Amino acid sequence: MQSKKNAYEVVIVGGGAAGLTAALILGRSRRSVLVVDAGEPRNAPAAHMHGFPSRDGMPPAEFLAEVRREITEYGVELIRDRVTAAEPDGSGEFEVTLADGGRVHARRLVIATGLVDELPDIPGLAERWGDDVIHCPFCHGYEVRDRAIAVLYRKETAIHQALLFSSLSSDVTLFLNGADEDDLPDEHWQTLAAAGVSVVSGKVDGIEVTDDRVSGVRIEGGRVFPRAVVVVPTVMVPRDSLLSALGARTKDTPAGPFVEVDPTGLTTVPGVWAVGNATGPAEQVVNAASAGYRAGATLHAQLLHTDLEREVARRRAGVFSPEGERAVARARRAAVGA
Ligand SMILES: Cc1cc2nc3c(=O)[nH]c(=O)nc-3n(C[C@H](O)[C@H](O)[C@H](O)COP(=O)(O)OP(=O)(O)OC[C@H]3O[C@@H](n4cnc5c(N)ncnc54)[C@H](O)[C@@H]3O)c2cc1C
Repeated sequence: MQSKKNAYEVVIVGGGAAGLTAALILGRSRRSVLVVDAGEPRNAPAAHMHGFPSRDGMPPAEFLAEVRREITEYGVELIRDRVTAAEPDGSGEFEVTLADGGRVHARRLVIATGLVDELPDIPGLAERWGDDVIHCPFCHGYEVRDRAIAVLYRKETAIHQALLFSSLSSDVTLFLNGADEDDLPDEHWQTLAAAGVSVVSGKVDGIEVTDDRVSGVRIEGGRVFPRAVVVVPTVMVPRDSLLSALGARTKDTPAGPFVEVDPTGLTTVPGVWAVGNATGPAEQVVNAASAGYRAGATLHAQLLHTDLEREVARRRAGVFSPEGERAVARARRAAVGA
């Protein structure tokens, strides 16, 4: 799909909660905005979205469709495509290349490309992802309360997950999945015991599924432990290739390197903002939307002041435009009236 124009004040890459909220605020500020979205939001495998006030339980696709409808009311353009490159044009602005070969110019960029969850290679796991194979106690924990929950150990965050899920069900088992029992410090064993979490050693061989539901966890040797839900820590990989090509600095986090942003979402590259899961793994939908809001508002104010400073400098240099003169006359009249 082609964009209507070849230049925009802001191009937003990614149309999930973060990118669309930035678009909403910029559209309401009457900026010319293009959102380019490849259409693969992170929570697409889940049937319901939780924890977003007033939208709790709404299907994620329905939520995004509603925001897309809202932004078009403000003149924001949205196209289904993938940005393959975003490069500085030498004047502090950017040239954006789309997978369909199109190119658009952007004064500013918002990168809201999200992240990819990599699952361990265990037979049966990927097929159930987002249904009864889950990762987030706040997103889907309440819905699996009181059920038989397996937590797969992959890294230390699994301990934290097991403890969080223990407040939702009294039947939580941590599967060490080949990790050495001796590698878990004594304090972990103590806390797991205090939370009533049982622990099973041995490598996990597969997830058993019966009647289209998870029914158990099979460990090496064939023994099956009946379980209804599997919790798995994913490896969260930011979709940050555009940001790294632009030279944006990253910072180390417990989940690996993520782009460094200031509280408004501005990266270390002037003119480039990043929001949502592209900037960190803990951004749930409401946080991603909030980051998009902050970036949109800051970016609008920054563009406004840049343009006004330019106009003031022009005036000082004796270059007057008819529109600028009319604006000054209006301001003076208003001041006299006051
Ligand atoms: C299974 C699952 C269930 C979840 N459930 C919940 C829940 O119930 N509640 C909750 O708050 N959070 C939930 N989350 C987390 C939620 O998915 C994220 O918080 C949210 O998606 C982050 O929004 P985002 O806009 O940063 O990224 P995304 O929603 O992932 O959107 C990024 C968009 O950018 C697009 N994109 C990427 N690269 C490009 C490119 N180069 N060009 C164009 N477009 C591009 C992608 O296709 C995608 O559409 C869940 C996550 C998972 C994995």
